[in-house]
Amino acid sequence: MAREFPLERYRNIGIMAHIDAGKTTTTERILFYTGAIHKMGEVHEGTTTTDWMVQERERGITITSAAISAFWEREGHRYRVNIIDTPGHVDFTIEVERSLRVLDGAIAVFDAVNGVEPQSETVWRQADRYKVPRICFINKMDRVGADFEMSVGTIREKLGARPVRMQLPLGAEDKLKGVIDLVRMKALVFQEQEQGSKVDIVEIPEEFQAAADAARAELLEAAAEQDDALTEKFLEGQELTEEEVRRAIRKGCVGLKLFPVFCGSAFRHKGVQPLLDAVIDYLPSPLDVPPIQGKTPKGEDAVRETRDDAPFSALAFKIMNDPSFSSQTLTFLRVYSGKLEAGTAVWNSVKGKRERVSRLVQMRADKKDELTECYAGDICAVVGLKLATTGDTLCDDKQQIVLERMEFPEPVIDIAIEPKSTADQDKIIQSLQRLAMEDPSFRVRTNEETGQTLIAGMGELHLEIIVDRLLREFKVDANIGKPQVAYRETVTTTQTAEGKYIRQTGGKGQYGHISLRVSPNEPGKGFEFLNSITGGAVSKEFVDAAR
Ligand code: GDP
Repeated sequence: MAREFPLERYRNIGIMAHIDAGKTTTTERILFYTGAIHKMGEVHEGTTTTDWMVQERERGITITSAAISAFWEREGHRYRVNIIDTPGHVDFTIEVERSLRVLDGAIAVFDAVNGVEPQSETVWRQADRYKVPRICFINKMDRVGADFEMSVGTIREKLGARPVRMQLPLGAEDKLKGVIDLVRMKALVFQEQEQGSKVDIVEIPEEFQAAADAARAELLEAAAEQDDALTEKFLEGQELTEEEVRRAIRKGCVGLKLFPVFCGSAFRHKGVQPLLDAVIDYLPSPLDVPPIQGKTPKGEDAVRETRDDAPFSALAFKIMNDPSFSSQTLTFLRVYSGKLEAGTAVWNSVKGKRERVSRLVQMRADKKDELTECYAGDICAVVGLKLATTGDTLCDDKQQIVLERMEFPEPVIDIAIEPKSTADQDKIIQSLQRLAMEDPSFRVRTNEETGQTLIAGMGELHLEIIVDRLLREFKVDANIGKPQVAYRETVTTTQTAEGKYIRQTGGKGQYGHISLRVSPNEPGKGFEFLNSITGGAVSKEFVDAAR
């Protein structure tokens, strides 16, 4: 079997957002319009497709990063869009990091009432670090108080980025009808009864014309700046063609010079299809990003070109249990070079062992496609690997390489877990080992003085989820409580480290973020308080405890 899509028709994207900005709803709509699912779930009904785990359904937040493949047609060509779900909660920034590592571009979703929120800022900075090109979607334009210009302004001011408006909203709040496309200079009106699948393309209404002209002038200027030939044309007062504008904006977006901005309301079925067009038009294909780098077993730098005939290399970015595969392990891979064939052996260069790939699958919203091969630039999952953990490189054993590793910060909060019987103690250890394969960002250790088993995680919610899974999935019978030692004493032995120490302080969506440094020479002194970021207040007790 040969590759079905040429590489330039792949998009590996993530959808990133502050919690509640509408990431899940937008993902759901995308899967609907791409034909991947036929009945849309709503978050409040707990029926959406990307929220796999029971806990997520109950809490209404997305925690795990699942990768789903969908297809979108643009100007007569079919594109494969792999959507890597990124969680929005601050305790799971580690999950965000690992997905950012393997995707080529992202949609940043913002709530039109709030613009850039503290958590969108955190995720945005992470995406900057991984040099991920982004398009912005100002969602919830139907909400009372929705303000497109304010939201765009916060991208400029809070994120220090250059937003370029590609659309204007056609109305707002309960008068939101659709969007104005500033490239085509047309209004797109979405029929809500048809779940937005029918779009009327009409002339821009009189009352929006002046605003549209002004925004288009800015768009053209931004486009012209990306290309010398266009700059000249623009300065001579010649019209740029649609094709020229798109190409120039794509260049600016892929080069991280600008961030195209779109708008709408995922919930009201307005603006999601043009957003999908924008994914194709402006976000990079695997060929538009630099080839992956790594080290050979001799420690030499090596590059793997994004080509099918290059030696195989892939990164494991997510391990999860799939109930529909009789709880077999699914190891999600981003294939960077060469191809992977079902039924062959691969070399795990981090573990230094060979392992057989019996089955390969690709996840769709409603089913799984069995694959015989997976090619450079694509995302797939291997069924039943036993050794690989998140961050491992799989490669051709004759051409070994370790790809750039993902780094995990040290966990910061401890809880104690005490089995109710000796039999449970073994079960706890086994279950925790299993969970650690999926999530390398928590640690387990035994406190020698108290004999307690301690789990350290990135935040309270992170620990809650781990404990919840232990009780539910692994049926461990245990008491959970605070460690018997002072909080400070459990962490002062850490070497020099600087990181984010996170604590939930209030109701949903209110999270604090404080930065602390562990004093290397005076371990008894504990933490040095650096600063507190975010809008959500950091509780005084936490700061006191940390000091
Ligand atoms: P996530 O936390 O970013 O995944 O956000 P969700 O998709 O779970 O959405 C959070 C809440 O906002 C849910 O109650 C959604 O129904 C609602 N929501 C999402 N998109 C929109 C929108 O476009 N307009 C309005 N009014 N509500 C929305």
